[in-house]
Parts: sequence; structure tokens; C-alpha cells
Amino acid sequence: MGISGVRLVLLGKPGAGKGTQAALLSQHYGVEHLSTGDVFRSAVAQGTSVGLEVQRFMDTGELVPDEIVIRVVDEHFAEGGPLEDGFILDGFPRTLVQAQELEKVLAGHPLDVVLDIEVPTETILDRIAGRRVCVSCGATYHVNKAPTVDWTCDVCGGDVVQRDDDTEEAVATRLEVYGRQTVPIIEFYEKLGKLVVVNGDGDGDEVQERLLKEIDGRIDPTRR
Ligand code: ADP
Repeated sequence: MGISGVRLVLLGKPGAGKGTQAALLSQHYGVEHLSTGDVFRSAVAQGTSVGLEVQRFMDTGELVPDEIVIRVVDEHFAEGGPLEDGFILDGFPRTLVQAQELEKVLAGHPLDVVLDIEVPTETILDRIAGRRVCVSCGATYHVNKAPTVDWTCDVCGGDVVQRDDDTEEAVATRLEVYGRQTVPIIEFYEKLGKLVVVNGDGDGDEVQERLLKEIDGRIDPTRR
């Protein structure tokens, strides 16, 4: 029998493949995939009040202020469900304050494992330059691996475009912000004994196999 209700966090630089891997893991384990980046992109696309608040941070590659992110995540978890059913977090937490907040939200439902997907910066720059993403569902493509029909999403039929923050300038900011704000949470999870570093170089299937091996090896057998 499979493992039920896994609770995972994926860390990694922008372009490390968190979104792609989170989508595959969410299918594999049958749990939701929560990407704060996707939530904010869809808020911007729909012109909601959150969208209006976050757009300028996203476009330049800065982090959205903790207070806004935490409000959105708290609301999501307050609806119940994910705590019991399991989840994969992609792009959250991204600061120490967010990681501490997540610990509070999880009370009694500890994370199973935090996976840090490691990819060299040169690879990241190549990947992001060719990355294209579906505005509706967040599925990602590459100019070398386009959707079947003319930049229409294979998954949901939405438009597939280049992200506004995948410009050279915004990517440089996102990498710098990752080093300054997000890297400290790697140590936070290391101290909690939750951290596993996974090599994210290579194709998606290879990385997926490495992740599954680490996750399955760490889950309490009584959960199977
Ligand atoms: P990537 O990991 O490729 O940078 P994401 O889709 O995770 O992309 O995030 C895109 C942008 O959304 C970030 O640059 C930031 O502005 C905003 N964002 C997403 N999640 C968070 C978060 N947890 N805290 C602050 N800002 C966030």
C-alpha cells in the first residue's frame, strides 16, 4: 500500500525544478500541491486585491512581505483538509519568519521531510531563459519542450507564456534574495532533523526517482 497524507516542503533556488517535481509528487502521493507563487500569479491575473498588493514585488523578483504571504497560507490551512490529508509546499516557506509560522500552523501534524533540490546556478540560468508557464494552471514548459499545440497548455488549455519575472534582471534579484532570505531556513530544518539535500541536476525523471527514494525511506512505516 502507498503512504498516505505525506507532508512535504520543497526548497531550492528559482528554477531548481520545485514546481515540476511538486506536481509529480502530488500525483504520486495523492496530496495537494500548494505553490504560493502560483497562488500569487493567479491573483495577479485575476486582478484581486491580493494580486494588486503583490504584483510589484513579483515583477522585480523581490519577496512578497511575510505578512501578506502568511495571511494567504493561514487562510488556506484554516479551511482544514490539508493538515490531515497531506500536502506538498513549493515556494513556501521562504523566510525564517514564514518557517516559524508554518511550525505553528502545523501543530500536531509535523512535516515528514524537507527536500532541498540542489542545482548549480549556471544550469538555473539556462533553464529559466527558456522556461514558459501556463497562466491558468502553472504547468511549466521549455522552449525545447513546448506544448503539443501552439503554446496552449496540454493540461488545461490555458495560454503558455514567459513569466514577467523570468527576465535576466529579475532572476538575478531572485537568486540574491534566495541566498539572503531563504538559505537560513535550510539550517532551521537541519536542526529539526528534517532536511535532505537532493541533487537536482539531470532530467525530471531522474530527479523524481531520487526524491521518491529519500521520501519513502524517511516515512514512518505505520503510515503505509
Ligand atoms: P521561483 O521559485 O521560480 O522564484 P515562485 O513561483 O515560487 O518562483 O515565486 C515567484 C515570486 O512570487 C517570488 O519571486 C516572490 O515575489 C513571490 N513569492 C512566492 N512565494 C513567496 C513566499 N513564500 N514569500 C514571499 N514571496 C513569495
